[in-house]
Amino acid sequence: MSQNSPLKHDAGRRVSTQFLSAERVAEVINKKGLGACIAGVAAYIEEDFRRWNDFDKCARVANHSAVGVIELMPVADATTYAFKYVNGHPANYRQQLPTVMAFGVLADVASGVPLLVSELTITTAIRTAAMSAVAARALARPDSRSMALIGNGAQSEFQALAFHRLLGIETFHLFDIDAGATDKLLANLAGIGLHGKRFSDARSAVKGCDIVTTVTADKSNATILTPDMIEAGMHINGVGGDCPGKTELHADVLRMGPVFCEFEPQSRIEGDMQQMPADFPVTEIWRVLAGSVRGRHSAEQVTIYDSVGFALEDYSALRYMRDVAAELKMTETISLIPNLANPKNLFGFLAEHRGAQGQLLAALAAAA
Ligand code: NAD
Repeated sequence: MSQNSPLKHDAGRRVSTQFLSAERVAEVINKKGLGACIAGVAAYIEEDFRRWNDFDKCARVANHSAVGVIELMPVADATTYAFKYVNGHPANYRQQLPTVMAFGVLADVASGVPLLVSELTITTAIRTAAMSAVAARALARPDSRSMALIGNGAQSEFQALAFHRLLGIETFHLFDIDAGATDKLLANLAGIGLHGKRFSDARSAVKGCDIVTTVTADKSNATILTPDMIEAGMHINGVGGDCPGKTELHADVLRMGPVFCEFEPQSRIEGDMQQMPADFPVTEIWRVLAGSVRGRHSAEQVTIYDSVGFALEDYSALRYMRDVAAELKMTETISLIPNLANPKNLFGFLAEHRGAQGQLLAALAAAA
């Protein structure tokens, strides 16, 4: 264990893991404010992406089925390891379940002790929106004020709030094939003082907007945006095309401007860029955030952020939630790892926790 490790000890052996349930995370967010949490996660993401080369990175491990995908997303620096478990099942709503559900862990690299187990379903929506806004702040025209939001499901309010808070977007053009999803988004936006306007198709929603966010869920090669819908100077934030066989942008849209991604080896498999040849030029967004590559070159240029979601964003979001829960004194601990008087006597832990009936049976067996 590292000298500065935040683990709790009792006589040099007790380990307690912090736990953030979905309810506790909701309480933390309500206390802090959702906008402040999105801005806070965005700041942590920027900080971590600027030190990109400190991290041991790999593409996520995906297990696909006919109806969805379950993925594990690990990443580590010299002190902290993180992973996220996340699924993507677009037809889940038919059984009253969300498309995306997740949880995650932070662990101490020096000892392997799990420090935090947290819900990541709500936190994923926050980090995805924060990451989209971080990329857009680096790529979109600074005078952008309107955004089309195509796909009005679970992620959409978080995207709208992130773009309002971090880029000053005031007007949202909404479209979803499910009118009920747009009703829900309109009501939720009104509740937080944001102005949404409903459109009858993606083409009319996109028209005249500075930024276009596609955040649809459909396990198919969809073409939500075609080249004739794209106007000079637009920034495209493509969020829903995030696994093999699941895309949103026509291939020719990707040819209209520079394409930026998170971690290239993962994005080439999962992003809209899966449609492009292996030598199609793309730039990892950390290079723009670190100042080594320029994002947008002119007001007329079209810029494209091909988001798939990368483990480092979850590392940043877990770090933020842990810090805010600690600041608000809202942490809870769980006994995830057995605390052993003798670390080699794992067997003895069972005897210590037999309970009264077990101890009686053991005593009777010993007396017989
Ligand atoms: P959701 O199921 O709650 O909402 C998706 C919405 O898209 C639904 O309301 C659906 O009716 C709509 N839709 C489907 N096809 C459409 C079409 N052709 N035109 C317009 N609307 C359409 O899902 P969600 O949790 O909001 O996630 C949305 C997408 O974002 C999913 O594909 C998910 O995998 C992806 N996602 C990406 C990241 C990332 O980091 N890039 C993170 C989280 C989720």
